[in-house]
Amino acid sequence: MDRTRDEFLPFAVPNIGEAEIEEVVASLRSGWLSPGPKVKEFESAIAGYVGATAAVAVSSCTAGLHLSLKALGVGPGDEVIVPTMTFCSTANVVEHTGATPILVDVGPDHNIDPDAVARAITGSTKAVIPVHFAGQAANLDAIYELAVLHDLAVVEDAAHAIGSSYRGLRIGSDLLQDRYPSLARTTVFSFYATKNLTTGEGGMVTTSNELIADELRILALHGMTRDAWKRYTNAGSWFYEVVAPGFKANMTDLQAAIGIHQLARLEEFVAERQHQARFYDAAFASLDEVIKPLRLPDRHHSFHLYVLGLSLDELTIDRNEFITKMREHNIGTSVHFIPVHVHPYYRKTYALSEIDYPTASMLFKRSLSLPIYPGLTEADLEHTAAVVELLIGEHRV
Ligand SMILES: *Cc1c(COP(=O)(O)O)cnc(C)c1O
Repeated sequence: MDRTRDEFLPFAVPNIGEAEIEEVVASLRSGWLSPGPKVKEFESAIAGYVGATAAVAVSSCTAGLHLSLKALGVGPGDEVIVPTMTFCSTANVVEHTGATPILVDVGPDHNIDPDAVARAITGSTKAVIPVHFAGQAANLDAIYELAVLHDLAVVEDAAHAIGSSYRGLRIGSDLLQDRYPSLARTTVFSFYATKNLTTGEGGMVTTSNELIADELRILALHGMTRDAWKRYTNAGSWFYEVVAPGFKANMTDLQAAIGIHQLARLEEFVAERQHQARFYDAAFASLDEVIKPLRLPDRHHSFHLYVLGLSLDELTIDRNEFITKMREHNIGTSVHFIPVHVHPYYRKTYALSEIDYPTASMLFKRSLSLPIYPGLTEADLEHTAAVVELLIGEHRV
């Protein structure tokens, strides 16, 4: 097989169709550039798709996580439990509320370890943020049970998980918390350029609780409410009141125009990602020096990422050199994630060390993410798998 490529294969590329482009142009012509009918339509479509009472469109997943914490009453003096194996924003948003992020280790599936959560709970713990890593759901029942027992809110970082399911229910669905009716919960999706569904930049919060949704809407738009106008005056639509020092974190109709058509293609996108994951699994089946992603039962894994582990004891090169060599063969890869405890701000502020997070530290050292996205061809997959095989062959101990 030919192991050279003339062109660089990017690690990730968005998949934008003609329908998305036409809808954006229609939005521009309509004059609705800020939140308008398309945002409403996209919110309803996402709520319907995941099975949620309410969906609130926001400017990013990061904003959605931040506003969720605020809406759930997290503030100074509180502690929020966060897995260290995540993108920095999951922890940054906790800092933005004035609360303290308490980082915990993950399991071999890269997802938050419920036992580590249980050990980290104190009298100050207010919330926990499980991350559905790579599009495979975290152990939600274990997290919800702990949350109900200790009166914690749950904010799910579902940046990777639009299109994922847990025990037959879509991530973000109200029904997931059916057995935990007292639970205060939001689920936050990312529509960043490289995620399963994109609006360029954007996010969505779903919840079963209308009051939380109302609070999120107010916080996302300057803390403004028009309720008083509706109730008490006939002064006209100019009247509003500011009931909280809110933020500016709304989505625009231009973004929603993209999202509406991306959502229509989501099942197809996920099926393609799953096909690609099966291709890689099969290609690496007989390769002892790599560790394939762990698949858990009862999960519909959307494969936002395909994270391959290198069995470093059996190889003469490390992960960083492996990535460099993949690049020399014109294949882009990435690392998910540099754990939060490794970043200088968190390491120094909280005096963290890698021995406190043995599994995440080990996973970080050995992992690389391979290209996986709709539009990748069989030839792209074959080249990528062949280069991995070649490099392993060249660097066995
Ligand atoms: C991408 C990502 C985010 C941030 O999403 P934005 O929409 O860019 O704010 C948060 N958490 C995880 C795990 C992510 O991968």
